[in-house]
Amino acid sequence: MERDVPFDQGDSCALVRILGESVRPGEQLTLDLQVARLYTRTSVNIPVVVHRSMADGPVLLLLAGVHGDEVNGIDTVRRILNDVGTRPIEKGTLVAIPVFNVFGFLNMKRQLPDGRDLNRYFPGSPKGSLASRLAHALAKDVLPAVDLTIDLHSGSAQRYNLPHIRFTEDDERSLELARVFDAPLIVQAPVRPRSIREMLHQQGRSYLLFEGGKAQSLDHDAIRVAHRGITRIMEHLGLWSGTSDLTQGTSMITGSRWVRAGHSGLFHPMMENGSKVSQGMILGLITDPYGEMAKQVKAPFDGTLFCVNTAPVVNQGDALFHLGY
Ligand SMILES: [Zn+2]
Repeated sequence: MERDVPFDQGDSCALVRILGESVRPGEQLTLDLQVARLYTRTSVNIPVVVHRSMADGPVLLLLAGVHGDEVNGIDTVRRILNDVGTRPIEKGTLVAIPVFNVFGFLNMKRQLPDGRDLNRYFPGSPKGSLASRLAHALAKDVLPAVDLTIDLHSGSAQRYNLPHIRFTEDDERSLELARVFDAPLIVQAPVRPRSIREMLHQQGRSYLLFEGGKAQSLDHDAIRVAHRGITRIMEHLGLWSGTSDLTQGTSMITGSRWVRAGHSGLFHPMMENGSKVSQGMILGLITDPYGEMAKQVKAPFDGTLFCVNTAPVVNQGDALFHLGY
């Protein structure tokens, strides 16, 4: 379904329905998304925080912790909720899910306890795996009310992502919003099957995927860029009035390739994330522990580094640098 009007600027009182509840103008509430209990019989609630202003306007969803160990996004949403405490929403509705994959967050793991990646099970089903049920609950009971979703991620394992927004080719509306977000980079990336991005793209709905920092770590640079971008989007959509700062401008990456380890060993990156490099430039070294082997890792083409593996030890074939052009 293609929606022609980007955001419903609405009649005097549009219906905002989240998890089966009608949220009234001026209401602030925390709803609980419940899908499964832990094996200790403890019920698991996934808090969904909703702030609706008196004035109708767009509904913005901030989604973090789809991958349970990507804590930068969780802290970013926490900061926005903190801001909303002193700077209330003036128009529209803010919906925030700081920790979606609570099961993964409890274990500090990307996946759910059965090893499934939640972001490969959309739109999900009510009778499927835990991943599928969580995806279904979000897709059916939250997302239909939402005009724009901002989904916050970090690099998996030790891969440190330079803060960027990923966009889907031909999604002009989201690209325009990505420019408002004003992260240092916008990266065109292929859509992963059965991800939230694929589902929303097929429905013609606006979506921004932010990537910054790495899993299991709080990276203040990445959090600062995400927090600033979300603030700018909220001001752009009218949730907040005023403008916080000037646009810094963003570079566009339309294609990329991983530079992989040709050898196993201790890994010594030599180029800063975000560097512009030319073909043949030495990006890092892989050494053995005995002082006998030192192999250079070279740039296969001219481009910009936007992800650097920070693992101290790598195996042959591991992704070391993500190089965009
Ligand atoms: Zn992620």
